[in-house]
Amino acid sequence: MAGAIDRDAAIAKRYGIARSARWPAVERAHLETQPHCVACSERQRKPGTTQVHHVYPFHICVALGRADLELDPRNLMTLCERRGGRGEDHHLLIGHLDDFESFNPGVRMEAAHEFHGWTAARLRTSKDWVARVATRAPHFDAMSDEERSKLRARLDQLFPQDHDERRSAAQRAIVASARTRSKGSSEDARASTMEATPSGRARDQRRSRS
Ligand SMILES: [Zn+2]
Repeated sequence: MAGAIDRDAAIAKRYGIARSARWPAVERAHLETQPHCVACSERQRKPGTTQVHHVYPFHICVALGRADLELDPRNLMTLCERRGGRGEDHHLLIGHLDDFESFNPGVRMEAAHEFHGWTAARLRTSKDWVARVATRAPHFDAMSDEERSKLRARLDQLFPQDHDERRSAAQRAIVASARTRSKGSSEDARASTMEATPSGRARDQRRSRS
């Protein structure tokens, strides 16, 4: 949100990956339907501390060929950050297990149940939380090819793409590679890949016909 540091974008940039131009609108829409941190109890809820968290970081989704998951509500949830002395840092502590470049596949259950309403101080002194931090997912650049293909298979299992999506992904790839081959920069190719929505698809279909 406005005023917050976009750490996910900073990490993605190191991998040569940028946010989708559609992200701000998706982020806004998500916060309208889910304004509160999933891990905060009612009494902890403070305005201005929420962040839209990707369960699977968007730079990893993009790198694994699932750019659609940057904007897919199935991969999004609201968590709080410590800001101006407010918030319990659930984004960092539960969403990323204390490392913004890592992630926590169990975040939905842990935020809603096991760690729900816990303060940052309580989390940091919990054996269960410390054990999860010790075994958290490696950074993407430290993953083996096998780990990467397993993760991609997991994403496909959790977030299946329907037939139309797969077909349009193939179509987008053709459009992107055609652009890259002509004069298009990799940024153009990226912009095309990011338009993983019905309206984006329609645009790409029009382009590919012309
Ligand atoms: Zn919270």
